[in-house]
Amino acid sequence: MADRISDNQAVWFEEVSKTFVTARGPVRALRGISGEVPAGAILTLVGPSGSGKSTLLSLVNLMVTPDEGRVFVFGREASAWDPPALRRTAALVFQRPPVIPGSVRDNLILGARLQGRPLDHPEDFLEMVGLPRELLDQDARELSGGQLQRLGLARALVLEPRILLLDEVTSALDPSAVREVETFLTDLCHSRGVTILWVTHDLDQARRVGDWTWLMAAGEIIEAKATEDFFMQPDNPLTLRFLAGGH
Ligand code: ADP
Ligand code: MG
Repeated sequence: MADRISDNQAVWFEEVSKTFVTARGPVRALRGISGEVPAGAILTLVGPSGSGKSTLLSLVNLMVTPDEGRVFVFGREASAWDPPALRRTAALVFQRPPVIPGSVRDNLILGARLQGRPLDHPEDFLEMVGLPRELLDQDARELSGGQLQRLGLARALVLEPRILLLDEVTSALDPSAVREVETFLTDLCHSRGVTILWVTHDLDQARRVGDWTWLMAAGEIIEAKATEDFFMQPDNPLTLRFLAGGH
């Protein structure tokens, strides 16, 4: 079947389902998800724990493959991409980034090596995410939770991804640092056209940074709207309940 080509479409989910087989039986993480993310937009993904947000992100860079349905990245089915190339194009940043034993510099350089080229100025990437260059020679295992989240972002940026998949990446930052990272990421989106799929528990953040917002519940998207409409005039009564703090 022909690829779904559209110049301004970064990610397309088409009737995607995923069930994990666990010792306690099957878990249906995603149930027939469809939706598209325009290139250069920020999609914020909200929903209760266990609703499938992280699984949805993982589909985009082939960390997880769907049982049913298809995922397209820039018009090409994810499974047709060379996985390393896809992971450079769509970089996933975790809430708790795994640390490579060694210095902060080592952590950044290894990221560059994945892309097959030397990294001459790792300090530039630290400064981009608001970390001082003095940290370069520090052991990455000694960083605070917030510093580690920033390092995780810096390591992704080294890849110069066209898509950033962010999974709760500001949860360990204090409020002023959260704003700083939000500004930096929205600028990146606007100046370089980077597309961001941004999972967050923080509804104010979802509203501040999002162009589009999806609410997930039990593996389904129950509300998908332009962010301002999502918060001002949701269609689903469950969305109102979620926004009011209930689940
Ligand atoms: P969220 O990110 O919204 O909290 P997840 O996508 O992490 O939700 O999880 C959705 C459901 O799938 C949960 O019930 C979770 O326990 C389950 N799940 C996620 N990943 C796995 C996995 N690798 N193995 C088994 N179950 C998983
Ligand atoms: Mg999650």
